[in-house]
Amino acid sequence: MNAPNKSGWKPTMEVSEDGIHTGPATTTGNHALMLEEPLLFEIGHAEVTGVDLPEIDTGAPTRLAGLERSEPIGLVGLTEPETVRHYTRLSRQNYGIDLGFFPLGSCTMKHNPRLNEKMARLPGFADIHPLAPQQSVQGALEVIHQLADWLKTLTGMPGVAMSPKAGAHGELCGILAIRAAHTARGDAREVVLVPESAHGTNPATAAFAGYKVEDIPATPQGRVDVEALKARLGPDVAAVMITNPNTCGLFEKDFREIADAVHAAGGYVYCDGANFNAIVGRVRPGDLGVDAMHINLHKTFSTPHGGGGPGSGPVVFSEALMPFAPLPFVRKDEDGEFSLVEEESREETRGQTFGRMTAFHGQMGMFTRALTYMLSHGADGLKQVAEDAVLNANYILRSLEDILYAPYADSGPCMHEALFGDRDFGGGLSTLDLAKGLIDEGYHPMTVYFPLVVHGAMLVEPTETESKASIDQFITAFRHVTERALAGDETLKQAPYYAPRRRLDETAAARKPKLGWSEPAG
Ligand SMILES: *Cc1c(COP(=O)(O)O)cnc(C)c1O
Repeated sequence: MNAPNKSGWKPTMEVSEDGIHTGPATTTGNHALMLEEPLLFEIGHAEVTGVDLPEIDTGAPTRLAGLERSEPIGLVGLTEPETVRHYTRLSRQNYGIDLGFFPLGSCTMKHNPRLNEKMARLPGFADIHPLAPQQSVQGALEVIHQLADWLKTLTGMPGVAMSPKAGAHGELCGILAIRAAHTARGDAREVVLVPESAHGTNPATAAFAGYKVEDIPATPQGRVDVEALKARLGPDVAAVMITNPNTCGLFEKDFREIADAVHAAGGYVYCDGANFNAIVGRVRPGDLGVDAMHINLHKTFSTPHGGGGPGSGPVVFSEALMPFAPLPFVRKDEDGEFSLVEEESREETRGQTFGRMTAFHGQMGMFTRALTYMLSHGADGLKQVAEDAVLNANYILRSLEDILYAPYADSGPCMHEALFGDRDFGGGLSTLDLAKGLIDEGYHPMTVYFPLVVHGAMLVEPTETESKASIDQFITAFRHVTERALAGDETLKQAPYYAPRRRLDETAAARKPKLGWSEPAG
């Protein structure tokens, strides 16, 4: 740490007592080329600025009528090299798909092809403004339109809303369309059924939209209990929300039967399509009776995610729900021009739209990347994506099931993720300890403690972009840490040993988070 330090900030990297970091403590807190980094507030100075601008004196009277600020607001400034170093150091403390294998289940952390990035950076896509005249952004509108066509074809669904910004946002979009459809026929249904293995966003979405959420149990084989679901259907059930393939990594074989029963009872079927990566090009959700489904472009179609950047969660709709889909949407006119339909018009088929999800199609970069990915793979290539993702997950499942408890190993092949549990660990060790041990081996851990239906769940999703060599190396590391956990190896309880931070107090972090910054005393 060689930036100026005005606040008495102290290096916090631990030199552990267990003799792992055996060298003497350093004065900076850095460990060789692993650099500590304070906050901007701690290294910056209010009187410093990265640019030299002359005082403005236009001679014109200000138009702020005496409301202009009279004192500086106290934001710190840094020089340009300090700024570059700050963010570069922070980026080196991060783990990402460009650094190594990222087996986070349900998240589809696949490689983001650089060709996509190149296309997204073309000025005609990257530098446009949402309020630009439509005549001047015909190419961008065509990209949205073409991507919408691909999504409709791949899912076998007639309608699509492109504006939702993420999977969870897409869920909300689908549920609002379902509610609009019920309301349009004067039906005030109150309940949404959600299987207990559902992603947390499903019940959250239904509750956010004002519905009562009821759980549907899973069978011992890890699939929705169809009989329990059918028994609960009735005139108060607005919709069911089912993830397919589900969060146990299994295909819901009875989906069509479930959908028919829900429709017969006057409800709609929402499918959480976040796991579309496992079936793209192989299964069309429209054929299974789905009414609305979101697709995470940032999972299946390789656009970057994590870190809070823009995602994209388009929602495909059945014939029944299409009239209620949100605005805006892109239309190809008879003269071949594209237009953005912004207002409800009774002439349009969508006369009963529930409104809008966002002000603008702000995720143009995601659209461009996703369409690039589709065009560079072609339909056959996308099918192979699904096949390879499923093959890789099954390879992991079958390579570990002899030592690691795999609750649904007998339910047939898994889809694109393999699920394990911590049932046989010794010495009071749990999934958390194994996950921390994997960090020392240089891996971002898999998804842990989800789905909730398995004790100490570990959900591993390799994706199709990992090579056999990379998966083999991961399996070797995973087996090694698993053997330690089975043997009750006490040292795992202190892992990670080699990370910049050791084990954090996760309970305090969740219950008593410190959300503000205050200058350290002294
Ligand atoms: C990722 C995911 C979501 C939520 O998607 P976001 O884009 O993160 O909002 C919903 N359901 C499942 C099964 C997921 O894997």
